[in-house]
Amino acid sequence: MRRYLFILLFLSATFGATAQLKPRPDAFPPKPETLDSKAITMATTVEEMADWDRYPTYDTYLEMMRRWVATYPTLCHVDTIGTSVQGRLILSMYIEPPTDADLYRPEFFYSSTIHGDEVTGYVMMLRLIDTLLTSYGTNVELTSLMDRTRISINPLANPDGTYWRSNSTIQGAQRYNANGIDLNRNFPNPFVPTKSTIPQENQAMMDYFAAHQFRLSANLHGGSEVMNYPWDSFTSNQNPHPAADWWREVCQRFVDTARTYGSNHFNDVTSSGYIAGGDWYIITGGRQDYVNYTYNCLELTMEISTRKTLSSDRLPEYWHFLAPSFIHYIGEIHSLPDNVGLRSTETGNIAIYPNPTTDQVTVTGLPEGSLIELYNAYGHLVISSFNSQFSILNLKPGLYLLRTTVGTAKVIKR
Ligand SMILES: [Zn+2]
Repeated sequence: MRRYLFILLFLSATFGATAQLKPRPDAFPPKPETLDSKAITMATTVEEMADWDRYPTYDTYLEMMRRWVATYPTLCHVDTIGTSVQGRLILSMYIEPPTDADLYRPEFFYSSTIHGDEVTGYVMMLRLIDTLLTSYGTNVELTSLMDRTRISINPLANPDGTYWRSNSTIQGAQRYNANGIDLNRNFPNPFVPTKSTIPQENQAMMDYFAAHQFRLSANLHGGSEVMNYPWDSFTSNQNPHPAADWWREVCQRFVDTARTYGSNHFNDVTSSGYIAGGDWYIITGGRQDYVNYTYNCLELTMEISTRKTLSSDRLPEYWHFLAPSFIHYIGEIHSLPDNVGLRSTETGNIAIYPNPTTDQVTVTGLPEGSLIELYNAYGHLVISSFNSQFSILNLKPGLYLLRTTVGTAKVIKR
């Protein structure tokens, strides 16, 4: 008896952590959700989006973006990230209030619905844009956040998938792009470089990342409710992300805040509401690992609704419990972990941390006693050092170029 009990205890201790995991919906060709056609109401005008309980038609979406820029021309502009296979626009609302030009403002990026049928985040991001723009100058917390942060929000990364049947409905939305490709499995694998054809939606996204200095981002999905932090390509035992401890704190804060407003959420995969991606299910070619590795931008995959295509009348309920977490997550950019350096795209060898910083800089990946030179934006040498640790306390805030014998990198003085 005792022995059996021991075996039982052993089994539950060994498998207890994973027994509660559901198969990752992202990992398999998903079963299409049975959609109650009455549960999806479309907004054919911007006015019909007033209560945020509908999905916009494609034209309504474009008109919303156009009107925000027309209404708040000094606060925002629209970036065209690129176009889809069928020629639809991949857009991002870039929010950047005019402020002191010398003030360093880190860049933040939200992106949703790379899987075209995972549409909850699409409406959440539209509503976030609206909330930010209408709050500038009236809400102290949000005004301060916008003054200190450049925020780019891409509500719809895969428009062909979402409007697969027609521009007038999201009924029949599909996961894939118009060529049947899963975009979140077809970014280059940064760990095992192979020659592959990059889907045009992903190439546009890669170009957008390359043109910016995003330090923190999130990619929104649906089908589960869990914060999925890097890496997706490895289990946390095989290769933990260097900022894993920080990620768990950030995820915990996100989930705790969401549960304050909706207590029964983020519990369908783990009881904590978060997990290292590879511990859930290993995937390769996802955007998260590519962005984290290549651009040294900390990107989190947010699975925000158990239904991929949420009934439209439930959208306000999801906004209610998610909005404070979405906003707090943007603010996390101002307390990034010190051990994740800003790696230059020109060299994979040297890393600098903390970066951005106010004072001490440490450069790793250089031979002992190497010359390190720091140039300002005008190309003037401002510091030269043979020590891999030095101070930039006396420099003005801004962007600097660090030059070494093995490569160059950007340093940001806060
Ligand atoms: Zn997804």
